[in-house]
Amino acid sequence: MNDSRLNVGLACTAAVVGAAVLNYAEVVSLIKDESGERVIGARIRDTLSGRIKYVYSLSGIYINSIKIYDSRTDCVLTEVLLDDLCATGVTRCNEFETFAKVVVNAAGPFCDSVRKMANSDVTPMICPSSGVHIVLPDYYSPEGMGLIVPKTKDGRVIFMLPWLGRTVAGTTDSNTAITMLPEPHEDEIQFILDAISDYLNVQVRRSDVLSAWSGIRPLAMDPSAKSTESISRDHVVFEDYPGLITITGGKWTTYRSMAEDAVNAAVRSGNLKPDNGCVTDNLHIIGGYGWDPASFTNEGLGKRLAHGYPFLEAEVAYCARHEYCESAVDFVARRCRLAFLDTDAAGRALPRIIEILASEHKWDKARQKIELQKGKEFLETFKSSKNAQFSDGKHNGKPL
Ligand SMILES: Cc1cc2nc3c(=O)[nH]c(=O)nc-3n(C[C@H](O)[C@H](O)[C@H](O)COP(=O)(O)OP(=O)(O)OC[C@H]3O[C@@H](n4cnc5c(N)ncnc54)[C@H](O)[C@@H]3O)c2cc1C
Repeated sequence: MNDSRLNVGLACTAAVVGAAVLNYAEVVSLIKDESGERVIGARIRDTLSGRIKYVYSLSGIYINSIKIYDSRTDCVLTEVLLDDLCATGVTRCNEFETFAKVVVNAAGPFCDSVRKMANSDVTPMICPSSGVHIVLPDYYSPEGMGLIVPKTKDGRVIFMLPWLGRTVAGTTDSNTAITMLPEPHEDEIQFILDAISDYLNVQVRRSDVLSAWSGIRPLAMDPSAKSTESISRDHVVFEDYPGLITITGGKWTTYRSMAEDAVNAAVRSGNLKPDNGCVTDNLHIIGGYGWDPASFTNEGLGKRLAHGYPFLEAEVAYCARHEYCESAVDFVARRCRLAFLDTDAAGRALPRIIEILASEHKWDKARQKIELQKGKEFLETFKSSKNAQFSDGKHNGKPL
């Protein structure tokens, strides 16, 4: 599964069925009612240099413009003009307030920082655990075959599975601090290589690693539980401040059930009277039907972005227009998975991706330079064999 496509498909599906979707929008504080007893909204920072982008479903409804006000000063922060499916506005201030009957906190490993905005004394729910994955060439999983070892000699789980034309292997499970860009350690990569080598009759080389990355699992503890034994991989839904529902933990594979539990908790908290129950069970995700590959092959953007990978130039333009793609990193990491599949191929594709995004978003030369710099810095956090930092501190830079 290409989970970046599923993630974007979910956001776009939400927009189509009526949600206002914002990316690069950080909750910086929560707003409470006059008595201070209930959360009634959030203050949001636009982290994309003052520009906010919206996508709306316009089925049967026509809106010409929307104004966003600063509720404290009554000043208009922005006027958003709508055209077809997209609306773009330029803000004069990069923060604004939004109000809701119930606020749902789904900030993953960061959810405790949002809970602390309501009550600085709350007990943390998250026990962050880092997990490293590596990507190897396709010949490690021939003919779509994979391998999972439920218990290695030191008691861990290890797997090697076909993924998007390559082989993904993992994983580790270690305590970590919560950071935006966790990096895999060389010993974690080596652990995975050693563990899978035990089950193959070829030696797996460090130079075969096309990409390596680390993620933070939001292992959750029910704050109402009496002991830490409640830490689990299941999800937890909790309202520890009236009006603020936190949903965390869980798995990708259980996202619909998590959504349903969170929506039902929000209905109870806000005493809402919806016309129907949660619809997630039967909701089709955009991209899962009516799919036409020709959508990606117009305007002479038919070349592949990287040798050996299916991603087309036209996908960059499509993602910029329809999928909130606002940076080169968005594309290589969160619209396709090229950075995760092959870090060096992603690095080689960056200049062309930036050129197409520049034409879509009217970026000047200075912005293009910044994008290239940020893209390279981001890819440095992926430890392909080229990026390998060995224990003697040397940056190798050459295949082993
Ligand atoms: C190594 C690893 C392996 C995994 N393997 C599997 C697997 O095999 N199968 C499976 O089903 N699941 C797996 N998972 C679990 C799954 O990926 C996670 O459970 C899932 O990504 C968590 O989703 P989430 O939406 O809760 O959090 P996230 O995906 O972390 O999303 C939280 C979002 O909140 C945003 N945010 C944070 N603070 C703020 C703020 N103040 N304002 C606004 N936004 C904010 C963040 O930027 C982020 O985009 C794995 C996870 C890891 C790390």
